[in-house]
Amino acid sequence: MSSLNKPAAASIDLDIAIIGGGSAGITLASKLNNLSAVVIEPRTPTERDCSWALWADSSQTTQFSSVTKGSWQQWKLVDQDGEVVHNSNQYRYTSLSSAKYLTACENNLANGVELIRAAAEDIVAAPNDGGSFTAAGKHYSAAHIYDSRPPVIAADSLKQHFLGWEIRTKSPITDPQIATLMDFRVDQSRGLHFIYALPFSDRRLLVESTMISTRLEDKDWYRQAIGDWLKLQNIEIEETLAEEAGVIPMATVSRRDNGIACIGAASGAVRLSSGYAFTGIQAQVNKLAQGISTGDYHVPAPIPSALISMDKIFNRVLVAQPELGVGVMMGTAKALSADGFARFMLGSATWKDWAKVILAMPKVPFLKQVFKS
Ligand SMILES: Cc1cc2nc3c(=O)[nH]c(=O)nc-3n(C[C@H](O)[C@H](O)[C@H](O)COP(=O)(O)OP(=O)(O)OC[C@H]3O[C@@H](n4cnc5c(N)ncnc54)[C@H](O)[C@@H]3O)c2cc1C
Repeated sequence: MSSLNKPAAASIDLDIAIIGGGSAGITLASKLNNLSAVVIEPRTPTERDCSWALWADSSQTTQFSSVTKGSWQQWKLVDQDGEVVHNSNQYRYTSLSSAKYLTACENNLANGVELIRAAAEDIVAAPNDGGSFTAAGKHYSAAHIYDSRPPVIAADSLKQHFLGWEIRTKSPITDPQIATLMDFRVDQSRGLHFIYALPFSDRRLLVESTMISTRLEDKDWYRQAIGDWLKLQNIEIEETLAEEAGVIPMATVSRRDNGIACIGAASGAVRLSSGYAFTGIQAQVNKLAQGISTGDYHVPAPIPSALISMDKIFNRVLVAQPELGVGVMMGTAKALSADGFARFMLGSATWKDWAKVILAMPKVPFLKQVFKS
């Protein structure tokens, strides 16, 4: 039978459809109540498992305790000249299992909110709001659609790219109570490069080679950097438990031009200067869910525009003079207290925090970029 002769499949009508059940999509879905909704996600949480980190305050420490892999009151940044160790009273640097987080949200959907394990296709916006799409052979239309599919990252744009291993070590590591956020004692010839190391216990370590640059490296290049760093630390691997890799945009992402509202990273929720997005996504989605419960379907901006402008200046300095990167990061950590540093990374720095950072920065390169904007 030709498709022209096929009876048209009935459309399933919904209040809300969420395309993509990742950090933003499934969090939003888990907060919806008293309406008909679907979240469309082709992959299982295990297929997407990785570590998501944030600076958690005491209420988030409790909120995420069942999905937390590790959490540290102390963290450090290291370069050839020494280290800055922060010991925070208010925040714990916390690493979550994304698979456990996504599963918990999937298991917490209210009646009337359904997870469809399939890809959305043929997404078309309606003239005013909402639209239609197909998934798993069915046709859906919704009064409001939120699209959280990952944004397209331009090939020549600044990005954070990394490859990491979760390992079990042969012998106990020193200082498992301190998370290493950035250790710059690695090859700096291809861009700003550091090792990120989270000790989940004294024998279990996540260690990542992370680059901030425009060009992706071959996977073996990051693996070599991790191996060299482990040697420097006298850490021997007993077993490699997992490998993860990722690319996070550090330049403004261009919105999909399909007339559908975006949430999460696709809406610009990634902090341009750091690549952190989890906290911004939580804030955006909490506000959106609250709005929806009162009939306001508008997506809140994930990051204030003033902060985006500051981050852009910071990134332009990194692109123009990458050799300044290590000093800028170490200078920021030295200038701030532990709590101030956490606020700065979370995007909630006070004016005092900002003043301290600005005073610690090399003035000429920053002023040059300010006047270019
Ligand atoms: C490996 C990695 C580690 C990261 N670590 C951190 C971190 O430690 N801290 C932090 O703050 N940020 C981190 N980030 C950045 C950011 O928090 C994550 O990218 C986060 O997942 C973004 O959430 P999102 O909901 O916008 O997108 P995603 O979580 O990527 O969700 C988008 C979903 O859309 C689905 N999808 C794609 N196509 C379709 C389709 N056609 N139909 C339906 N669904 C579709 C995908 O399967 C995916 O699950 C990390 C990013 C990566 C890649």
